[in-house]
Amino acid sequence: MTLDIRKIRNDFPILSQTVHGKPLVYFDNAATTQKPTSVIEAEADVYRKFNSNIHRGVHHLSNVCTEAYEEVRKKVADFINAESKEEIIFTKGTTESVNLLSSSFGGSFLKEGDEVILTEMEHHSNIVPWQLLEKRQGIKVKVLPVSDKGELDVEAFKGLVSFRTKMVAVTHISNVMGTINPIREIIELAHLKDVPVMIDGAQAIHHVPVDVKSLDCDFYVFSGHKMYGPTGVGVLYGKRKWLKEIQPYQGGGEMIDKVAFSGTTYNDLPYKFEAGTPNYAGVIGMGAAIDYLLTNDRESIWSYEHELFEYALEKMKTIPGIRFIGEAENRTSVISFLLGNSHPFDVGTLLDKLGFALRTGHHCAQPLMDKMGIPGTVRASFAFYNSREEVDRLVEALNRVGAMLG
Ligand code: PLP
Repeated sequence: MTLDIRKIRNDFPILSQTVHGKPLVYFDNAATTQKPTSVIEAEADVYRKFNSNIHRGVHHLSNVCTEAYEEVRKKVADFINAESKEEIIFTKGTTESVNLLSSSFGGSFLKEGDEVILTEMEHHSNIVPWQLLEKRQGIKVKVLPVSDKGELDVEAFKGLVSFRTKMVAVTHISNVMGTINPIREIIELAHLKDVPVMIDGAQAIHHVPVDVKSLDCDFYVFSGHKMYGPTGVGVLYGKRKWLKEIQPYQGGGEMIDKVAFSGTTYNDLPYKFEAGTPNYAGVIGMGAAIDYLLTNDRESIWSYEHELFEYALEKMKTIPGIRFIGEAENRTSVISFLLGNSHPFDVGTLLDKLGFALRTGHHCAQPLMDKMGIPGTVRASFAFYNSREEVDRLVEALNRVGAMLG
């Protein structure tokens, strides 16, 4: 199935504007994706038509809102092929999902001297929560290095896993280099030693079809806003056997069974992990984003985006003085680069004046920047509403910017 990009672009009202008098080219999709009208309307409809706090009401609006919220749980479970909807926990986003896991899993299972393995290419949100555990509980974070090409060394991983390893947490796709990590191999190797694995899917969920059952990962986390859904909502998928065992994250309404000063008992899954009034409008918006993604064949989205990425890479190679950061064999959708000796910020600022939205800086991956010996990069990241014509315009603009900055 070929994608009708013109039609798809029409679904995203924000894309048709001009910036500084130039047509907007939005290449900052790794930071956040734009929203189709159906998502905007779905969230607005909650407030317009049936806003009411969920789960606690006997009245009509509350029931409608609760049903819509719970339907999304089923939708997410189907989307990633989870065993059941009880394995889907709604959070504020990837960051909160990792914090939930590190705090609850750590509190239940980790003690001084235990080790958690991360990689050098993790986003800060999959580093700092584990470092907090180092401080709180005396665990040790071990780091799997990244090669100069931006790849993980699976052999080195084998050497890092020991009887002390209690968790492996690794990103599916790098937000800086687009590297697609060999997560299936990593999961298999970790499981040989009975170590659970969490996959950070923030940069993968909207690009590649994800099947948690086939991957056999123990946890998979992602954000709604990176998959054409609203901000402030995300998912922690966990195998039921783990979620049942680990302690709650936050205390409050909804996560309890019975509260008493003599001792409180907790609600069943998934509610044990959803204290307080959730972002139900956001969750319902995320459901609309899944519907939207599914109206287009996912394999077609994936191959279109990958072809666009390869096209961009080839074209960008012709730009004088360009240096790519990360040249993994298996990568997609994200291109980080430097232009001569120019500071990424200067390149990004000049591009902005020409109507381009690209991100500059360390991309919340300072350890990776340190490894590469650079303060930051310019990053172009693609979505399926982007076109070859936009890539051509970027290459032309970068040639201009390169000449201006010398
Ligand atoms: N992990 C990766 C790989 C990311 O790219 C990001 C955001 O850029 C995050 C985690 C954090 O996501 P959020 O800010 O939506 O919580």
